[in-house]
Amino acid sequence: MATVTPRAALQWDYAPAPESRDAASLRESYDLFINGAFVAPTDGARVQTINPATEEPLASVAFAGPGDVAAAVAAAREAAPKWAALAPLERGKYLFRIARLIQERSRELAIVESLDGGKPIRESRDVDIPLAAAHFFSYAGWADKLGYAVGGRAFAPRGVVGQVVPWNFPLLMAAWKLAPALACGNTAVLKPAETTPLTALLLAEIVQEADLPPGVVNVVTGDGGAGAALVRSDVDKVAFTGSTAVGKEIQRALAGTGRGLTLELGGKSANIVFEDAALDQAVEGIIEGIFFNQGHVCCAGSRLLLQESVAEEVVRRLWARMERLRVGDPLDKNTDVGAINSRQQLEKITELVASGEEEGAEIYQPPCRLPEKGYWFAPTVFTNVAQSYRIAQEEIFGPVLSVLTFRTPDEAVEKANNTPYGLSAGVWTEKGSRILAMAQKLRAGVIWANTYNRFDPTSPFGGYKESGFGREGGRHGLEPYLDFE
Ligand code: NAD
Repeated sequence: MATVTPRAALQWDYAPAPESRDAASLRESYDLFINGAFVAPTDGARVQTINPATEEPLASVAFAGPGDVAAAVAAAREAAPKWAALAPLERGKYLFRIARLIQERSRELAIVESLDGGKPIRESRDVDIPLAAAHFFSYAGWADKLGYAVGGRAFAPRGVVGQVVPWNFPLLMAAWKLAPALACGNTAVLKPAETTPLTALLLAEIVQEADLPPGVVNVVTGDGGAGAALVRSDVDKVAFTGSTAVGKEIQRALAGTGRGLTLELGGKSANIVFEDAALDQAVEGIIEGIFFNQGHVCCAGSRLLLQESVAEEVVRRLWARMERLRVGDPLDKNTDVGAINSRQQLEKITELVASGEEEGAEIYQPPCRLPEKGYWFAPTVFTNVAQSYRIAQEEIFGPVLSVLTFRTPDEAVEKANNTPYGLSAGVWTEKGSRILAMAQKLRAGVIWANTYNRFDPTSPFGGYKESGFGREGGRHGLEPYLDFE
């Protein structure tokens, strides 16, 4: 009889697989992009943008002052009539050109996105940059088909649009904003977030390379002051993605002005797992839902709702899966969880996590060694969470999951909707009828079934309640950029 030798416990790890920085050569300093040229700020300043994984300075970036913002808006205003009058097919060709140039420079863009923002290269390479190109491709195709998109109604471009974006998906958010605006015949002034200006500036280079007429796209880097100046300037429509607090401020500023506004704001989305779900698949979806981009995702599945009968089992499998997450160098191709975007965001996460412990929730963090320099937070799961706890109510915007339980589908709906937000939700079940029933009752703009955090340029995205209004993406994403008679 053959003897069976016990198998030694598997001990293995990945060797480091760092992406080379050589494919992205950063300049020492970057100017504002106004009227087709890079220009120094006239009444602004210069600020170093840093790598949040190491705290090393990357480049000095212009911060626009109010005069710079006004100059960018004036350039967009001057360019507007000609751009609007251009044959739609020709406008589409410019967008196709931008899309192709993004593809051509995708490696460089991915590296810079990870350096400036801290997200794993695997995500910037496989998600952010390809999706940004896909948005331009998709809207390039719509440019000469707008009449079909709006059901034959008479329409015209809005004119000049002011667009303010956050730091979690810097290039992708810029693409979400610019592609539909340009396809509809508007000119634009884009204000990237202060901690992640670099890929928007590379996009400005691409716009130049694509030979867009001067003034059609302007990029004014800067902080909230530049954003506020843009919102209050002579623009016809504002598109804002960012926090609910700033969104409310913008809504107040624009009230009664007759200017268009769309707001894509925060979220506290429920990821709901029923007892009949494929549990291992659900655990992957939970991980994707909360640890993708360090949880810096407006639609992150940050509240996990587990049916009581499987709650313990799912938590056990989740903890085991979390032990396999690799936290560290964003440029390492094996990294799952990168750096927190800024010191300020790290402080916010730390404060909210402390509140969870004080209020009585139980914390779990897998053993992981965090780098000494830079901004880092270990993947975190809270169990024993009451709905009233701050960690169940407030957007943490970090790798922190709050677990709640439910017994019936109605209770799941009630708990999922018990939030001021309404951006997205996930439903995990083998029953198609239950997916549809839940989708009808959940107050969320996007509902994923047996998956999470999937994005496509043809699919509209947006929120209810304090998550904002208006839709970006797909045919729906064109309407906010058009005026109807
Ligand atoms: P934030 O509101 O602080 O900043 C967003 C942008 O607004 C930045 O460019 C910032 O400089 C600018 N800004 C700041 N103050 C301003 C003002 N008074 N007027 C005009 N502009 C101003 O948000 P953040 O911390 O950079 O981003 C995180 C937030 O964005 C989260 O709440 C997240 O949920 C949300 N977000 C939403 C979506 C969505 O599609 N719903 C997508 C990504 C991020």
